[in-house]
This record gives sequence, C-alpha cells and structure tokens, in this order.
Amino acid sequence: MNGRSGSAPTIVLFRRDLRVGDNAALAAAVDLGSVLALYIHDEENENIRPMGAASRWWLHHSLDALGQKLQASGARLIFTRGRTRDVVARAIAASGAKRVHWNRRYEPAEAAVDAALKTDLREAGLIAQSFDGALLHEPSLLKTGSGGYYKVYTPFWRALNGGVDRRDPIDAPRSIKGWNGKFDGLSLDDLDLLPKKPDWAGGLACRWTPGEDGARQRLQAFEKDDLPDYERQRDIPALQGTSRLSPHLAFGEVTPFQIFAALHQSDQAGAAKFRKEIAWREFSYHLLFHNRDLRERSFRPEFEGFLWRHDARALDAWQDGRTGYPIVDAGMRELWQTGWMHNRVRMIAASFLIKDLMLDWRDGETWFWDTLVDADPANNPASWQWVAGSGADAAPYFRIFNPVLQGEKFDPHGDYVRRYVPEIAALPDRYLHRPWDAPKSLLEENQIELGRGYPKPIVDHGAARDRALAAYHSVRGKA
Ligand code: FAD
Repeated sequence: MNGRSGSAPTIVLFRRDLRVGDNAALAAAVDLGSVLALYIHDEENENIRPMGAASRWWLHHSLDALGQKLQASGARLIFTRGRTRDVVARAIAASGAKRVHWNRRYEPAEAAVDAALKTDLREAGLIAQSFDGALLHEPSLLKTGSGGYYKVYTPFWRALNGGVDRRDPIDAPRSIKGWNGKFDGLSLDDLDLLPKKPDWAGGLACRWTPGEDGARQRLQAFEKDDLPDYERQRDIPALQGTSRLSPHLAFGEVTPFQIFAALHQSDQAGAAKFRKEIAWREFSYHLLFHNRDLRERSFRPEFEGFLWRHDARALDAWQDGRTGYPIVDAGMRELWQTGWMHNRVRMIAASFLIKDLMLDWRDGETWFWDTLVDADPANNPASWQWVAGSGADAAPYFRIFNPVLQGEKFDPHGDYVRRYVPEIAALPDRYLHRPWDAPKSLLEENQIELGRGYPKPIVDHGAARDRALAAYHSVRGKA
C-alpha cells in the first residue's frame, strides 16, 4: 500500500514515555484515526546528553516491550536514528501526516528540540501538540506567592499536594489503527544499545523486567507487600523495602498519575510517605526546569570555587567498591552488579566521594549516570547536589556521614554488606563495618588479610572529615 493512500496518520513520538497506558499523546491520536508510532534515537544534537550504558540496556528492552505491546494493539513501532526534526520531516513526507503528537519533556536540551520542532511544524501549517504525563505538575505553572519557582521542598510539596489538579490516568487504547505505509526504519538491534564485548548485563537481566508490564507488576507487588511498612523499612538496604519503580519512572513506563491513583484508596502511613518521595522527583524536575545547568554547575555559587581534589586512584577505588569502608563498597558493588543502589547507600557513597575523598560531585554524578538503570536527568544531579550541600534545599555540607556509624545503624546485622563484600563476610557483626578494628587473631582465624583480599581504608575518616570542613570554611568565607 502506498503510504500516502487512505487517511493521513497522526505521528506519535515515543521518548521517555515508553507505555501505551496513560499516554495522552497516543490516546488523542487514536481518537483521531490512524497512528504512526515513531522512536527516534536522537544523539546528534550535541546538547543532548547521551544515555549511560545501563540506561541503554534498559532502553533496548523497554523499546522491545513497547513494540510488542503496540503490535498487539494493531500498530507497529518504527525505530529510527537521527535528528528529531529531520526524521519527523521524513515521516511526514512518507505518510502525508498533518499532525504530530508527543508527551512533554523537561530536560533543557530535549525541551528545546521539541520547542523548535513545534515552531517548524506550525510554520509549515501542520499541527503539533504536546501533552502531559511525566509529571504531576507543570513546572512553568507552579509558582510561589511572589511568582518565582520553589527552591525549598516543603512548601513545594504543600503547593503540589494542595494546589495541583490531578487528572485520572488515561486507559490504554483497546486497539490502535496502525499506519501501514512504507518507511525506512531500522531494526531495534541496529540501534546498538546493548553491551557486547563484554556483555556485562547478566546481573541486570536477572533483576529487572523493563517495560510497562514489568512496571505494573512492580507497583502491584510493592503495594501488596511493602507499602504498609514502607516508612519503617525504606532505610534498610538489606530489605526489599522500597518500590524499585525508579527505572520504570525514568523511562516513563508508569506515570505518577497512575501511581497516585493506585495509592488513592490507601490511607496507610506508608502511602503518605511514598507520595512524598514521588514528590521529591517532581521537585527535582522543578529545579531542573528552572536551572538548565543543574548537572554542570553548583546551584550555590560559592561551591564553584571549592577546591575539589583530582585523584584518579581514589575515584577508581570508589567506582570499584574498594575503599575499605564496607557499606560504601557494598553500595558501589550493588550498583555495578544490578544497575541500582539503595537510596540510603546512595547517600552514604555520595557523601564519601564528596567529603571523605573531596572529589567533585560531578565525578560521582557522571559515574551514576553511566551505571544506574534509573539514571535520571533531574533526580541524579539534584540528588548529588543535595548530598554535596551545593544544591537547593540541600543537606548542609558540614553534615558529614560517618560510614561506620551509618553502616552499624542501617545494616546492623551486616546482611547487606555480607551480600556484596564476601571477603569479610565471616567477621562477626561488631567488626563488619570496621574490619580494621578486629583483633589480629580474629582476622587470621577467618583468613582475612586487610590490604590483600579486602583493602585497608583508603582514607582515615576523622582526618578526611577535618580536611573537608576546612575546605568548606574557606569557600564559605568567600561567599
Ligand atoms: P522509592 O523509595 O520506592 O521511591 C519511589 C520513587 O520516588 C522513586 O522511584 C523516585 O522516582 C522517587 N524518589 C524517591 N526518593 C527520591 C529522592 N531522594 N529524590 C528524588 N526522587 C526520589 N533517583 C532516580 O530516580 N534516578 C537517579 O539517577 C538518582 N540518582 C541519585 C543519586 C544520589 C547521589 C542519591 C542520593 C539519590 C539518587 N536518586 C535517584 C534518588 C533515590 O535514591 C532513588 O529514586 C531511589 O533509590 C529509587 O528507588 P525506589 O524506586 O525503590 O524508591
């Protein structure tokens, strides 16, 4: 069939919204007639940050799942690569489409691409329409009393909770009239998203089910098993106490509207706390929307003068989970093995990099961007700046986590450390977070030689703390 015959389709662009349920752009297109579903792998715009390796793995499987879902409803997902405006122009030429739909993005470079596309299409007399879905709030519309944007979480949460009209999630279309014309697309494999030599993704594949169905199952299991105790268990890294929805949210396989609707019936304390965590994600996007360079620049200008150290060996030791501090190393190894790290341990590991090692928070942000399956353009830089003390409403720099005390408090029986740091698993609980304090005889008895199997601490926490505080006081003095 000639692509231009029959009624012209609506082109629907899929990006970080890899779902058919609660997809406003898709639903509106389905109501109008046939749909040309398009994924454009756009890395040619130099301002768009290329995805990290773990995210690319997720993206491959999520696109695969979306393609199958669309196919089952009657539409095929076309994979392409190139500049968004060029590919959309080709799709319009091939199909005769007069309309293009998408769900809004809030990352600065991506939003700029979409704004330019909208202008081009409208100037050409076509219809370009964007929809909501990624966020409960529209960052340009939620304003403080004085007309600015929110820089503090608590008033932001109050405004979000009380002042934002929350729509119901939109049902997935029962069927989609897919456009069947000819278009020169690629196969999913041609996008070359998966690691090959070596294929390090085995641990990720065991842990995760990318895609909308995986997201729905995760949400249901969390609601049933973990939500009641969420408030109590969310800080214990050895437990599966949190939702692990983060990669599903990062790829738009589930929306905050769907999550809030699912929690609607629940009056448990866990649900109230969980809503507030989802709101932290909203807050990160709010900050990113109003601070285009969130990942490049410290929000607090005095931190731009901070004398970060450059120490490639220390950075390597941190990345490899070989700092000699068991809770930090367990977290970094969990990240490497599974593409995810528990929030409590993210805070401890980040604090260790920034304060104990005095390395630039951007070094940590970049590593997380590459290795997290949930690497998120807003949450990642906002959280790193939060730990650094350089962000909006951040933890103060002088609040420095003690990795030993944190380990003893949140992993008191060492279940988490033993899972990821087997070299010292035989130590009794009382020495597990401070193996250097264990008597020599106990180490020998358990065949542990610090500095050979498991490293000695690469810094002394007390001395490192003093060094970090002195550096902080010197920039604060200049502020
Ligand atoms: P749950 O506790 O089940 O929370 C549900 C959802 O709420 C999460 O999926 C997430 O979308 C949101 N959320 C929870 N806590 C936070 C938070 N502190 N800030 C913002 N949103 C939150 N989260 C990411 O999604 N992507 C990142 O790249 C990311 N990088 C981080 C880097 C550092 C240094 C730190 C300290 C935190 C980072 N976080 C990031 C926030 C948080 O650690 C993860 O969202 C959380 O661990 C994901 O697990 P979960 O889905 O089980 O969380």
